[in-house]
Amino acid sequence: MNVIRPKEREYRQSLIRACLEANRSGINQGTSGNASVRWDEGMLITPSAMPYTSMTPGDIVYVGSEGQPYGSRRPSSEWHFHHAIFAARPDAKAVIHLHSPAATALATLRMGVPPFHYMVAMAGGDTIRCADYATFGTPELASNVIDGLVGRKAVLLANHGQIAIGETVEAALALAIEVESLCEQYLRARTIGEPVLLSSDQMAAVLEKFTDYKSDPEPATNIRLP
Ligand code: 13P
Ligand code: ZN
Repeated sequence: MNVIRPKEREYRQSLIRACLEANRSGINQGTSGNASVRWDEGMLITPSAMPYTSMTPGDIVYVGSEGQPYGSRRPSSEWHFHHAIFAARPDAKAVIHLHSPAATALATLRMGVPPFHYMVAMAGGDTIRCADYATFGTPELASNVIDGLVGRKAVLLANHGQIAIGETVEAALALAIEVESLCEQYLRARTIGEPVLLSSDQMAAVLEKFTDYKSDPEPATNIRLP
């Protein structure tokens, strides 16, 4: 058994903490979802189909730059899109994928989030797109995700869920929570009418203000594992 160095152990624990917090807050359920963080030439990623409550740092899988897994568990079935995001997006240091209820509901309608609220700019632009559908765990889904994330830090996945990226897994989770909240607000508004959308000038003003307001959301949680 390889010894896990302290820094790596902390990264592994941060993935488990984020997934536990996602389930505790109701934004994700069961073994749905997964999380990763850049490490060495590759990434550390949650194992496939394992309950977060029984996950330990030793269960996290290291996947190398060519996609080769090292560990006692199988990496998340979605390692293709995590790997593709780290390759395509130097700004992404961590990725979280969740089946959050409101984002998923919107994504089953194949709808993204329009500029109905200024906080949509938190995801990096004036919309949050819905990536085209492809079977979970496929390179085709990874390619659709990369397209949907152009100029953005979050994307909905058709008939599936959402993905958020960040400087840390805590920041990625905070953005995913924000995206879920926006989807919930948008769905509510749509039940009684058609929300007034902000113009591209109005959204550009928000995006400009965000550059010196907050570059990344604050960590969503201070929860520590025992
Ligand atoms: P894994 O348990 O393999 O990470 O799969 C969960 C999931 O959300 C697939 O899209
Ligand atoms: Zn999923």
